[in-house]
Amino acid sequence: MFQKLLRYFSSTSRMAPIAKKYDYLVVGGGSGGLASARRAAEFGIKAAIIEEARWGGTCVNVGCVPKKVMYYTASHAELIHEHKGYGFDVEFKGFDWKQVKKSRDDYIKRLNGIYESNLDKSKVDKITGHAMFTSDKSVEVNGELYSADHILIATGGRPSIPSIPGAEYGITSDGFFELEDLPKKVVVVGAGYIAVELAGIFNSLGSNTSLLIRYDQVLRSFDGLISKGVTDNLEVAGVKIMRHTEVSKVTKDSEGILTVETNSGTINNVNCLVWAIGRVPNSDNLGLDRVGINIDKHNNIEVDDYQNTNIKGIYALGDVCGKALLTPVAIAAGRRLAHRLFDGKTDLKLDYTNIPTVVFSHPPVGTIGLTEEEAERKYGREKLKIYTSNFLPMYYAMTENKVRCNMKLICVLPDEKVIGLHMIGQGCDEMLQGFGVAIKMGATKAQFDECVAIHPTSAEELVTMR
Ligand SMILES: Cc1cc2nc3c(=O)[nH]c(=O)nc-3n(C[C@H](O)[C@H](O)[C@H](O)COP(=O)(O)OP(=O)(O)OC[C@H]3O[C@@H](n4cnc5c(N)ncnc54)[C@H](O)[C@@H]3O)c2cc1C
Repeated sequence: MFQKLLRYFSSTSRMAPIAKKYDYLVVGGGSGGLASARRAAEFGIKAAIIEEARWGGTCVNVGCVPKKVMYYTASHAELIHEHKGYGFDVEFKGFDWKQVKKSRDDYIKRLNGIYESNLDKSKVDKITGHAMFTSDKSVEVNGELYSADHILIATGGRPSIPSIPGAEYGITSDGFFELEDLPKKVVVVGAGYIAVELAGIFNSLGSNTSLLIRYDQVLRSFDGLISKGVTDNLEVAGVKIMRHTEVSKVTKDSEGILTVETNSGTINNVNCLVWAIGRVPNSDNLGLDRVGINIDKHNNIEVDDYQNTNIKGIYALGDVCGKALLTPVAIAAGRRLAHRLFDGKTDLKLDYTNIPTVVFSHPPVGTIGLTEEEAERKYGREKLKIYTSNFLPMYYAMTENKVRCNMKLICVLPDEKVIGLHMIGQGCDEMLQGFGVAIKMGATKAQFDECVAIHPTSAEELVTMR
């Protein structure tokens, strides 16, 4: 009898290993996951975070951070042409991509280390490996089970690749950061901000760059001032834009040179093809179906305003939810969730309206609020007052190269509340944050104008438009 019981208990314990229990278990060590886990740990709870790749996620490793380093690199290439106007006779001796790549990779390694040690300082347990849900709402990593009262999914997304013959010969934004040399001839496919930014970087650094877009302008979801302005600037800067163009086939010869076939003709001798056609959420391969978590038709995890999924105790945020794919959005949602769950702020949630956004094009874009089209749909044309300004920033008075600045304020009557601000020009990236605060507070045009201008700047236009 005793032997029978022993056999029973040992077999059941083999079948159901005990899960390590936490208060908060976060899947994904990127922008949103790290922010949420660390903030939650401040409230004295037991938290753990699971990451299968590098700490910091997309933004740090293959997104915002290395992209901005390359944007700065490209900006240096532009400045070289402008030194002369300011009296500098600088000899240009060439550009070393390998050197920038090495410094950039070293910087990112340092950041990975900082993220890891910050987790230790915050006393958040680090678990390394691929996380999969089990049917009883636990999470399995490398054969170990973990459970928690509250589980957050912040697994981000990855670049899409089209299903056409030879698509595998192209790279994505991830591959862009692995390039060991500046390619001579590049084809970038896509019209979103990543396509625009990468095409701009290649072009400024000297690659022969083509941008293939499906319609007639880039950034089509942005205000018309931005989509037209950025498309025009890309062309003026030397990017060859192929409109209404889709790739049908890619072939590679024995030397590694690509031929890109499109409905607008064949592009030969291509050294690098970059797919920047969108991103898909990392919601597959997570075992979501085992727990019954709802996803939409694009595989984004469905959440309510408070980041709750349809399953009690399981939350999701950031890119895996497919809404406002930006690092500060994931961070803000993650921190608010931590306060809501563990700090008694039971009503706290992220307001997804009026999120300021920058595109690091050349020159950069800053935008917040409704586009003119959206404002017209919402309020009607007769309720809107629109201010625009198109001017040459003073910086270009000395240079041969002239890049104009374009700004638009969309106001709604009767009090002219500012509901949209769109601008493209030198410094617009840094200009936006402060104006974002004003718009978030509901500022009117008169309140903008009450602020005395700072002279001479481009930003002063925003408080003097008539
Ligand atoms: C080229 C590029 C440029 C960008 N530039 C900007 C910019 O300038 N400004 C900006 O605000 N945003 C930018 N973004 C977007 C930004 O990077 C994302 O919005 C942000 O990283 C989303 O954060 P997240 O926490 O949702 O996901 P991520 O940061 O992607 O983190 C998700 C993490 O989960 C891990 N993971 C996934 N599945 C599992 C699993 N099953 N088990 C364990 N771990 C898992 C992944 O390895 C990853 O580390 C850029 C993105 C790209 C690609």
